[in-house]
Amino acid sequence: VCLGHESGRPTDYPVKAPKKKTPHMVVGAAVVTNRKGEVLIAQRREKDMLGGLWEFPGGKQETGETIQQCIVRELKEELGINIETCGFLVTVKHAYSHFTMDLHTYFAKIKSGRPRPLECQNFQWLKISDLRKVPYSKADLNIIAELEKPNGLK
Ligand code: C5P
Repeated sequence: VCLGHESGRPTDYPVKAPKKKTPHMVVGAAVVTNRKGEVLIAQRREKDMLGGLWEFPGGKQETGETIQQCIVRELKEELGINIETCGFLVTVKHAYSHFTMDLHTYFAKIKSGRPRPLECQNFQWLKISDLRKVPYSKADLNIIAELEKPNGLK
């Protein structure tokens, strides 16, 4: 005899693994320009995700703030500068292996302060034609492509 319960036993057919919902992240980033027409880029810290790569400074949107407020806060935290956002540039939609991301990018100008690498490893000002001389995260390459279009830099 084979003992056991009939009622309530699991199905006998193979099942697909349940689909895990990929987390979604909303991020703001700034293309800060100076009077020479150069653009400010920051290098991510080695220990962080995408460590050592360069990016347009910014970060995750927090509850209760607009994207433009998020960008202002992140640049203060990362680089110690007070900025004002100007026109909208582009939203990059990117799928990393563990999350998807909307990266909303605005132009910005420094109102006060000089950049210091507070929460990044390094920073530099580069002409748009020189931006590709350093490595970026994949999402940020789309921002560069946008800047390289004629009239990209407003
Ligand atoms: O800086 P923070 O960790 O808050 O950024 C959240 C995520 O947004 C990072 O993990 C990074 O992958 C992404 N990001 C990006 N490009 C930027 C700024 C942030 O891909 N310019």
